[in-house]
Amino acid sequence: MEEALKHGLLSVVLPSYNEEASIPRAADTITAILTQAGIDHELIFVDDGSRDGTWSQILAQAARFPQVRGVRFSRNFGKEAAIFAGLAQSTGDCTAVMDCDLQHPPEKVVEMYRLWQKGAQVVEGVKTNRGKENPLHTAAAKSFYSIISRATGIDMSRASDFKLLDRRAVDTLLAMREKNAFFRALSSWIGFSTAQVEFEVQPRLEGESKWSLRSLVRYAMTNIAAFSTAPLQLVTLLGVVVFLCSVVLGVHSLWQKFTGHALEGFTTVILLQLFIGSILMVCLGIIGYYIAKIYEEIKDRPRYIVADRCEGRNHDGQAEKNL
Ligand code: UDP
Ligand code: MG
Repeated sequence: MEEALKHGLLSVVLPSYNEEASIPRAADTITAILTQAGIDHELIFVDDGSRDGTWSQILAQAARFPQVRGVRFSRNFGKEAAIFAGLAQSTGDCTAVMDCDLQHPPEKVVEMYRLWQKGAQVVEGVKTNRGKENPLHTAAAKSFYSIISRATGIDMSRASDFKLLDRRAVDTLLAMREKNAFFRALSSWIGFSTAQVEFEVQPRLEGESKWSLRSLVRYAMTNIAAFSTAPLQLVTLLGVVVFLCSVVLGVHSLWQKFTGHALEGFTTVILLQLFIGSILMVCLGIIGYYIAKIYEEIKDRPRYIVADRCEGRNHDGQAEKNL
């Protein structure tokens, strides 16, 4: 006998930062695809403190479609915060997260939803390609993902933020108190019955990527620190290596002293000073970085601040707006 299929409301979370050109296209395309597939849905646009007309575009879509809602941040808090705000707003039995530049193909959401209907609680979008980017970026991303994969014990090399999560999984993520939440890894880390859907990263149609080299490096460091304490263990390892070197050199120095060559080896002294000094500095830096992260978490500031919200058209055909 065939298992009964689940049915339910699908929430789609769309983090948007300076995406005025992409929003109408995203609303049209996703609504059309989901309506055609007969999937009951709501769209939640999260305006991550955009400086262009993103918010007015979201209001315009909410006036057109009753199932569109919007949240506006008081400033740019980053994509992770936008994703979590969207999850917090979602009311669906399952929630999909996708980029609003449509680089994540919306047809795949239907495929993900079907897997959810069959019982999957976390459906992960897996990249078959990485879209167009320069080789330096690819190499940097590769080393970042190999570190993070080792830290989490989950293969992250093809992971993306394109996911569909069951209500249970969404609630589990929302219950986590860490501020530096790394959605892509956390959503795998929580476990649950998982399925995968492969997709090709589409070219960006409007505007350009919001990531600068600096923001990518910061993203990598924050997320490695959020998932791994390996850099702190590196400090211990360096300590052991330096200690072993010092034993060898200590024996050598004593030997020189007792054989009457004690004045030699001044270069060694200088090199040792430089070597130990720099290692100490690096180690202090690593420890300081983690202390900074602990400080950030302990302050317990909110992940984001909502400045404005909007709901889809109400009964008078007006977009509802409230603070
Ligand atoms: N985004 C965001 N806040 C940010 C940066 C990006 O909400 O600070 C959103 C952006 O609007 C898009 C998604 O995250 O919907 C992915 O960003 P982008 O397309 O710039 O990254 P890429 O696809 O190049 O990795
Ligand atoms: Mg993109």
